This record gives sequence, C-alpha cells and structure tokens, in this order.
Amino acid sequence: MIYDITRTVRPSIAVWPGDTPFTIVPTLSIAEGWAVNLTALTLSPHTGTHADAYFHYEQEGAYAAAMPLEPYVGRARVVTVSKHDGALTKDDFAGYDFTGAERILIHSPVSDALDDSIFPDQFPYMSVELIAEWAAQGIVLIGLDSPSFDEFSSKDLPCHHALRKYGMVNLENLALRGVPDGDYELIALPLKLDLVCGSPVRAVLRTL
Ligand SMILES: [Zn+2]
Repeated sequence: MIYDITRTVRPSIAVWPGDTPFTIVPTLSIAEGWAVNLTALTLSPHTGTHADAYFHYEQEGAYAAAMPLEPYVGRARVVTVSKHDGALTKDDFAGYDFTGAERILIHSPVSDALDDSIFPDQFPYMSVELIAEWAAQGIVLIGLDSPSFDEFSSKDLPCHHALRKYGMVNLENLALRGVPDGDYELIALPLKLDLVCGSPVRAVLRTL
C-alpha cells in the first residue's frame, strides 16, 4: 500500500508570506482548436511538499539538481507529536525508540488542518540539539509537516544550517494526516533543477 504524503499543488495553496504564489497560465488549449493543452507554471520551489536545497540558505550550497539522492529514498519512521508550536526537543519524543531509524517524519497537528489555503500561524519546528542528536544516530533525512525547520521569525536559520553541517536533508510541508505511526519506505526525490534553491517532491510512503 502507498500513502501519498504530498500536498496538492493548486493556485489556492498557501505559500510562505511574501513568496511567489502558484499560478497556471494556459498557453495552448484543445478547446480552442490546438492539438494539445499546454500550460505554463509560475511557482516557488518551496510550494507545497518540497525539499530545500543547501543553496536555499548557504551561498555555496548545492542546487536542487546536485543534492544527494540517497537520503530521499529508503526506510523512514513516522512519529506523531502533539506540539502545536515551538521547538521540538528530546522531551517531545520521550518513550520513542529510534533504534534502526534512518529517516524520521514528524506528524504534528499541522497535518490535520484541512485547508491548505491557510498558512499555519503556529507550527512546531526543529531544534539544533535534536538535529545534532539524530545526526549522531545516523539519521539522514528529517521531514516536517510544518513550512519551516526554523521558527517563523528566524533570520539566522540555525536548524537549516545544522542540516547542511551534518550532511542531512529535509522535507517540509508534508501531509501526514491518516498515516499511522511506524516504519515505511519513503520515496520523495527532488527534481533535477539546476541553479534552484529547492524542489517540489511527490512524497510517498510504501508499507513494508
Ligand atoms: Zn523550504
């Protein structure tokens, strides 16, 4: 069985305040006598469920096309937290056993909001301490249903920088509603976009 953990990208989807809205312009139309329907898209690479490229937050960081592929495919553990807002720490995962985990996807109340057109005014984000601890355990990818790894008002983005420091990658804006906690195979490859700061992904979880 496959769980689709990707948000639907449509013009109404909320983007980070100030980021480019998603738009579709029809350039050719079968209804108007053309052989094909053809559309042109305008979007931020951070629209909907996406991977950040290191270039998003570091000038010499990798573009989406050059991000390592291995972290985006493989065994992943889904865990639910109740935190609505604030930094996630070890205490939010008390009792969880991450032994054997390679990737961690965090299901927060953000996934359970039904309206993708509303940007969440509260969301849980990471802490540098937790990223460091998981890096030491061999975790290669962390996924959040939140729109950022750092708090909304952050200017120095310490959690994003920690990812690159430890050679980890992220997924943001996951849609984990209805996905039971447990182990799966994750497939969520970024597009091979050169010169770009991230990429939308089609993120799925395959039951093992
Ligand atoms: Zn992003």
